[in-house]
Amino acid sequence: MAKKYPVIGCKKSPRYIGGLPCIICGVPTTGKVDIEINWFRGDDEQVRVCKTHQTKHDTEILAAYEAANA
Ligand SMILES: [Zn+2]
Repeated sequence: MAKKYPVIGCKKSPRYIGGLPCIICGVPTTGKVDIEINWFRGDDEQVRVCKTHQTKHDTEILAAYEAANA
């Protein structure tokens, strides 16, 4: 069965408060989530997510990513 894209890839935890806004709530954060848009890892996109939204809400991250790129 073919993998459906986009999917959530690597997650990097925020190390401190600050940086670009979380894609969901807008809080400044250094946390990042890779969005795999196809099977080429070189094409992965990155979005910023705060600690709250990084640990859960994968579907919300994808929805926010798709809304931002609509
Ligand atoms: Zn957030």
